[in-house]
Amino acid sequence: MANRTDIDRLSIHEDARAMLARAREDGIDTVWDRLAAQQPQCGYCAMGVSCRNCAMGPCRVDPFGEGPQKGVCGANADVIVARNLGRSIAAGASAHSDHGRDILEVFAELAAGETSGYELRDVEKLRALASEWQIETEDREPMEIARDLAAAMMEDFGTRKNRLGFAGRVPSVRTERWAALGISPRGIDRENVEMLHRTHMGVDNDYVNTLLHGLRTSLSDGWGGSMIATELSDVMFGTPAPVASRVNLGALRPECVNIALHGHNPLLSDVIVQAAADPELVAQARSLGAEGINLVGLCCTGNELQMRQGVPMAGNHLMQELVLLTGALDAMVVDYQCIMPSVTDVAKCFHTVVISTADKAKFTGATHVSFDPRRGLEIGRQIIRLGVEAYANRNPDRVRIPDETVEMMAGFSVEAILGALGGTPEPLVEAIKAGKIRGAVGVVGCNNPKIQQDHGHVTLTRRLIENDVLVLVTGCSAIANGKAGQMMPASADMAGPGLSEVCKALGIPPVLHMGSCVDNTRILVLAAALANHLGVDISQLPLAGAAPEWYSEKAVSIGTYVVASGIFTVLGIQPAIFGSPAVVKLLAEDLDEVIGARFAVEPDPGKAAVLILKHIEAKREALGLDHHETPESLATAA
Ligand code: SF4
Ligand code: SF4
Repeated sequence: MANRTDIDRLSIHEDARAMLARAREDGIDTVWDRLAAQQPQCGYCAMGVSCRNCAMGPCRVDPFGEGPQKGVCGANADVIVARNLGRSIAAGASAHSDHGRDILEVFAELAAGETSGYELRDVEKLRALASEWQIETEDREPMEIARDLAAAMMEDFGTRKNRLGFAGRVPSVRTERWAALGISPRGIDRENVEMLHRTHMGVDNDYVNTLLHGLRTSLSDGWGGSMIATELSDVMFGTPAPVASRVNLGALRPECVNIALHGHNPLLSDVIVQAAADPELVAQARSLGAEGINLVGLCCTGNELQMRQGVPMAGNHLMQELVLLTGALDAMVVDYQCIMPSVTDVAKCFHTVVISTADKAKFTGATHVSFDPRRGLEIGRQIIRLGVEAYANRNPDRVRIPDETVEMMAGFSVEAILGALGGTPEPLVEAIKAGKIRGAVGVVGCNNPKIQQDHGHVTLTRRLIENDVLVLVTGCSAIANGKAGQMMPASADMAGPGLSEVCKALGIPPVLHMGSCVDNTRILVLAAALANHLGVDISQLPLAGAAPEWYSEKAVSIGTYVVASGIFTVLGIQPAIFGSPAVVKLLAEDLDEVIGARFAVEPDPGKAAVLILKHIEAKREALGLDHHETPESLATAA
């Protein structure tokens, strides 16, 4: 059994540590135990030089030059690494884009009047999107407009248009770069399918060509599938506006039926929120001795609910097993993505029922309730009822809820940010020009048990805001920063003098919660709006991206589309590319020439902050703005 010091190394947060201690006491395996059991992990795979793309393999090449240098087909390390990376990008882009398509299909059914529990909550946004997509809006009913918009967006998934509907948002100088490189995204599914084709044995055997298509594939996610997911979610569920909420395991309430909503897609979770207010179900919960029904969020389904409705957040990726260990969770409702298969094993140690809802994401050991938007509310009620019934089996003696919650603010959509600025990016541009805000950085992405949970997110963010850099967060990063108390207007006191002054004047935190993982597109939209406002390319702006604790293939796609959109990006976890020095050079150096941005890898968040601050100051200098040296000593600042 590990002692408490070992546990403290796994997470920076007390709620996680308390539940890890319980897991050790009760002999319940968590992700950290399974990572330890996997050691040593395969070095060939870690360097990206193993391949099982065909039955002549599996193959591996020796990155140190002593063993085989080619797979059976003749692929060298460059080709194998590029193919593996290309497939990861395609998997991540497909996950986001399939999520987008699911939203779009329900939107189309809503427009056809076939759903229950859904409505058009932001008609103004619907009209704005329709105009952007050249759909007539004048003197037309919202449902009519929605039908046409749904049909037009469906076409973006195919191959007929050769240009994404949101391409008009991108500064023209950037779309010209993409065209010159032959990487303009043509259709969402098309780029993903083509990547799988190219990486089949004997197709694209030039690593540069494969990776250029990797950029195009990721762009079909960022400016395509994910953007459709974000925008239509706003139309159906409301465009987020600043909302106060709470975070950590203290969001669970011992006196209530507790139901966690986990995964990524707001389609079902939104109707579950409606169903939880059903007086009949509340009465049923009370008849069993509960005071009410308490919903909490996990991962990005949680982000979707928190930023629109203020639903409190139980935690991020590495908290999904630990929330079960409280013994206070009656039901975990899952849709898809980032849900560990282990949740049903941990749930079995308690009374918790795991309810899967997506036919494409079933879990052995879970109760499956098939999502059907035509019966949305009815299914929402059915799910809440399962949670209430499970509450009857809860053993109060096994309940341990470790912490008081922390307050956080969410809901900073682009519309909300521009609203806070008076409807135009001008005040933000002026603050950047005046040097009060040095630049802006998107700190996004997952947790990964290979590093202390949330240390990367929280430390990097702290260093950036202390140095007057506005931080935009999404996904699990937002939850980490929320738990660290960085996301309330009062957190402006944690920022440097310039950023603090701007935040206090606007009443906003220095770290803005922009939503879920698909909502990284909001960061793209904001960056494009700033670039268009100034008449420059995105790559000229003092911006950067960071994914300090990423684990997911979706994060690979996000990082790639952020770079392909012109934003320097620092990864905290080494991607599986280091078996090919040529691929590393391409991504970390040569891309800068052709796309105006590149990747860097830096596991130490203090050093990552220095890299980013130097980059921001260099961009400021190139724009003719005031700039200064970034001392290396910042990397080890207290
Ligand atoms: S594609 Fe080539 S390198 Fe990959 S498994 Fe087949 S033979 Fe081996
Ligand atoms: S940030 Fe990563 S771990 Fe968290 S929900 Fe998104 S993809 Fe999953």
